[in-house]
Amino acid sequence: MGEGWCTYATFGGPIVMVGFGSIGQGALPLLLRHLDVPRDAITIVCPDTSGRAIADDNGVRFIAQALTPDTLRAVLEPLLGRGGGFLVNLSVDVSSHALMEVARSCGALYIDTCIEPWPGGYTDPSKPLSERTNYGLREDILALRAAWGGQGPTALVAHGANPGLVSHFVKEALLTVARDVGHPAAIPTNREGWARLAQVLCVKGIHIAERDTQIAHIPKRRGEFVNTWSVDGFVAEGLQPAELGWGTHENGMPAEGAHHPTGCRAAIYLKRPGAGTRVRSWTPGEGPYQGFLITHNESISIADFLTVRDDRGMVAYRPTVHYAYHPCDDAVLSLHEMAGRNWRPQPAFRLMNDEIVHGMDELGVLVFGHARNALWYGSQLTIEQTRILAPHQNATGLQVTAAVLAGMVWCIENPNVGIMEADEIDHRRILDLARPYLGTMTGAYTDWTPLDDRGGLFPDPVDTSDPWQFANVLVQ
Ligand code: NAD
Repeated sequence: MGEGWCTYATFGGPIVMVGFGSIGQGALPLLLRHLDVPRDAITIVCPDTSGRAIADDNGVRFIAQALTPDTLRAVLEPLLGRGGGFLVNLSVDVSSHALMEVARSCGALYIDTCIEPWPGGYTDPSKPLSERTNYGLREDILALRAAWGGQGPTALVAHGANPGLVSHFVKEALLTVARDVGHPAAIPTNREGWARLAQVLCVKGIHIAERDTQIAHIPKRRGEFVNTWSVDGFVAEGLQPAELGWGTHENGMPAEGAHHPTGCRAAIYLKRPGAGTRVRSWTPGEGPYQGFLITHNESISIADFLTVRDDRGMVAYRPTVHYAYHPCDDAVLSLHEMAGRNWRPQPAFRLMNDEIVHGMDELGVLVFGHARNALWYGSQLTIEQTRILAPHQNATGLQVTAAVLAGMVWCIENPNVGIMEADEIDHRRILDLARPYLGTMTGAYTDWTPLDDRGGLFPDPVDTSDPWQFANVLVQ
């Protein structure tokens, strides 16, 4: 427990952290600061030893090992023991499903920030497109939950910044819009209540609208992929098909759109990579911008969560939900170069951290289509604020690690509810825990729509019947 900081929870351990990259290295000091846990109860398992000095400085054990389907249980079971442990998955290329099974059989709590497959799960060209989607990965976890019957040690899936915090931002944004259009609402107590609130407010859609302006004094070099969080993670999700929760207000499917044959059917995918798909959106700091429609778990889970069904079980309402990600400028250059290489990743990569000289990560939700047009609600966190608040991370990382910390505290407080998604848990509790690390929390209305300033020099086919049609948002 860190001196002078508020203790959020007491936990006896053991805590096993799998993966110690940008998020793991940032999360560790926050956990030690806010959890009353013995340092010798924490073990990191990670093949890459570049963060080992941080573990050593913090008095935490480090095991340099890659987990594989064959080694998983042999490594983790002795570390987790039988009951009372916590498995914190902050890795890439280790199956979340497999780790959740290990955690459950050891009676351990579990958290991750992304539903990860084993290597190749995102990019194996022999698999059909629909099986390379986040929809498929989420459906697999929902099936696991159904098999487990909603009980047992809590496993909080996909609880970083996005996916994760943004689900809580959506709820706060809905309550804000309700208040400001003259229909103040009590906090809904269940999924149906939240979905009906979004429906009553006539919310047509939600963008996870993120603009990262962090820049470094070292420019991106040729043949190098640069980003503010995992390059492996970003490349993998960028090469998945673009995906979006598909709203009931949409007039027609995109030309490259496809439905999934089974499952919740809250989302569609496009037969093109998210890294090559641009959409129009808006943040308060940037104004209008074009971002990438990178697939993310929250695009599907939020759309599913906010679905209203009629008495016959037919879908009566659902918002369109998707990511509109403008990563840092060097990451945009990196994507451009990778596209030119026919999507073959560059041989070198760099995660920007100490070399960042300026900028902020603006991460929020643009909730649109209601009587006030659109509200952006989220976190504006600068690199300068970040360096005062926490070590070993940039602004992008701190938004994630704050959510990991808050999610772990929520699991400790709610230890026996089985598999849970961010949308299903107490958003006010999470925001209270994470807020000290989120910089300026901003709610900003805008009159902007994707039809603004269209046409101009060239003909631009638009659907004037409704500015918020996805056809107007997509850059054709
Ligand atoms: P990173 O690439 O910096 O680190 C990944 C870590 O996983 C590395 O330490 C690597 O050595 C380790 N790893 C790789 N293979 C392993 C194996 N077989 N066994 C054990 N460890 C292994 O990534 P990051 O930026 O720290 O991201 C970690 C995870 O968090 C990823 O799944 C990423 O998608 C996710 N993430 C989520 C959010 C969010 O907001 N939800 C944001 C950023 C990252």
